[in-house]
Amino acid sequence: MEKREQLYEGKAKKVFATDDAGLVIVSYKDDATAGDGAKKGTIRGKGVVNNRLSNALMQKLEAQGVPTHFVRELNDRETLVKKVEIVPLEVIVRNVAAGSFSKRLGVAEGTPLNCTTLEFSYKNDDLHDPLINHYHALAMGLATQAEIDTIAAYAFKVNDLLREVMMEVGIRLIDFKLEFGRLPDGQIVLADEISPDTCRFWDAKTGAHLDKDLFRRDLGGEEDAYQEVMRRLLG
Ligand code: ADP
Ligand code: UDP
Repeated sequence: MEKREQLYEGKAKKVFATDDAGLVIVSYKDDATAGDGAKKGTIRGKGVVNNRLSNALMQKLEAQGVPTHFVRELNDRETLVKKVEIVPLEVIVRNVAAGSFSKRLGVAEGTPLNCTTLEFSYKNDDLHDPLINHYHALAMGLATQAEIDTIAAYAFKVNDLLREVMMEVGIRLIDFKLEFGRLPDGQIVLADEISPDTCRFWDAKTGAHLDKDLFRRDLGGEEDAYQEVMRRLLG
């Protein structure tokens, strides 16, 4: 397997072609952005942590019946994944009120929710990833009803499995964002990443943030927090 030209550079990762049209290499950077790109910075070592953590978590999910894009970790920052057509939805699952949910709905951050919620944002930077409902997704042709049903079922299953895995290492899973993609045969698989960039992790004992909110909110200590999550999960 040979690394070829760069296909895309995003805010946190680069994507490279390979000599296999069905596979791409994802390369994780230390770059961090927040506030819709208004804040830019670096979290030293983040790329390594997110690459290794996302791969470990995706392998666990795959073993429990959630299909993922993961193929093989190549090195500390790079992973071989199945190339997918990304479904342009940010799929957000919440167990506890935080972030935009708290702000928009006036529910104090940290309030446990009566049921787990699922929401979709339209993945479009120019429009600032607006919140939409599933009728909007259907109306715009972003996904079919069958795809949305599959995505919702996988998202809740990821929540159940991830919540358990994190609780075993003393971390509460508050909320997270997933992205899904289509393989050439139309099969829906979990893609992108699962990491402290895309999840809210709170220490179960102290309530301390162990995620990107430390950077987003200028709280500091983000480098140590990312290392701590990796240490707890991967030893
Ligand atoms: P952004 O595009 O939001 O800046 P990243 O910096 O994380 O995000 O860039 C990674 C890009 O790669 C994202 O647009 C993501 O949707 C896309 N991606 C993730 N997994 C795959 C995959 N398996 N195949 C193709 N594209 C993918
Ligand atoms: N999230 C993400 N990428 C985004 C927006 C949100 O990974 O572009 C994650 C975020 O880390 C959190 C969850 O999705 O775990 C819910 O985020 P929220 O809607 O509360 O947005 P925020 O407070 O980050 O604006």
